[in-house]
Amino acid sequence: MDIKKVVQNVYDKVKGIDDKGNLASYIPELGNVNPDFFGVHISTIDHLNFGVGNSSDKFSIQSIVKVLSLIMAYRLLGEELWNRVKVEPSGTAFNSLIQLEVENGIPRNPFINAGALVIADILISNLRYPKEDFLNFVKKLSNSKEIRYSERIATSEKNVGYRNAALCNLIKSFGNIENNPSEVLDFYFNLCSLEMSCEDLSNLFLFLANDGFTLGDKQQILTRSQTKRINALMQTCGFYDESGEFAFKVGLPGKSGVGGGIVAVHPKQYAIAVWSPKLNEKGNSYKGVRFLEEFTTETELSIF
Ligand code: GLU
Repeated sequence: MDIKKVVQNVYDKVKGIDDKGNLASYIPELGNVNPDFFGVHISTIDHLNFGVGNSSDKFSIQSIVKVLSLIMAYRLLGEELWNRVKVEPSGTAFNSLIQLEVENGIPRNPFINAGALVIADILISNLRYPKEDFLNFVKKLSNSKEIRYSERIATSEKNVGYRNAALCNLIKSFGNIENNPSEVLDFYFNLCSLEMSCEDLSNLFLFLANDGFTLGDKQQILTRSQTKRINALMQTCGFYDESGEFAFKVGLPGKSGVGGGIVAVHPKQYAIAVWSPKLNEKGNSYKGVRFLEEFTTETELSIF
């Protein structure tokens, strides 16, 4: 099968569809992005690297970063991590406060905002220079020096981040945030503002398809068991309230963000990243989901 040809054909087909979605304008700066951007990049274990459209343009990866911060925290804390955050799908909105009240401030999973705030807190407690150390970790993993936080986007979100502030303070009241909430929020907004391209993302996430080892220098980032667990979490919790439907339609573990990016992994085969900023009503990239659905159907390269 000629993967490049399939990627190109599906891209051309999906590019033309009328996506009725909306930009995530609740973060004002994300409302200023060109809605027509559309990029795809695939990286395979067999060293195929192929991109189409805006595949090398940087965009705000938003919640996709939650996988990277989780990986860093998992390396630092090991299995102890799961005392601070659970591993169940939430069935509620990504920024919901409801379950925290009845579950004593232990978030349902690390990919909802509550869980990602606890992970940010863990990183602050365990890193000397959290922002710099995290950025260096991501740069090293992706083999790219060109990755940075966007101060513009972090500030834009900070100015309207009342709900995340409420979440962080509520968790703090239960004792599951160790640091000052304003420090945790500042770090969290910076994490979400990270800018990467589809090419950066699919290259970086490829180690999750390779049993936890980077492809080039064969560095072990996670153990095989930890890798399995991160992929399992992406499968069950990676797509907000659409995680079931994403598994149903696409059949790959992955993570989306409100910047319109999606990265997905097929263990032992490939990583793929898609970016198109208009979101469906569940907050996932409209064209991104469509592309991946058509791609795994055409190639039969889903995990199911
Ligand atoms: N920074 C965003 C927020 O906290 C991330 C949302 C997302 O991509 O899911 O609202």
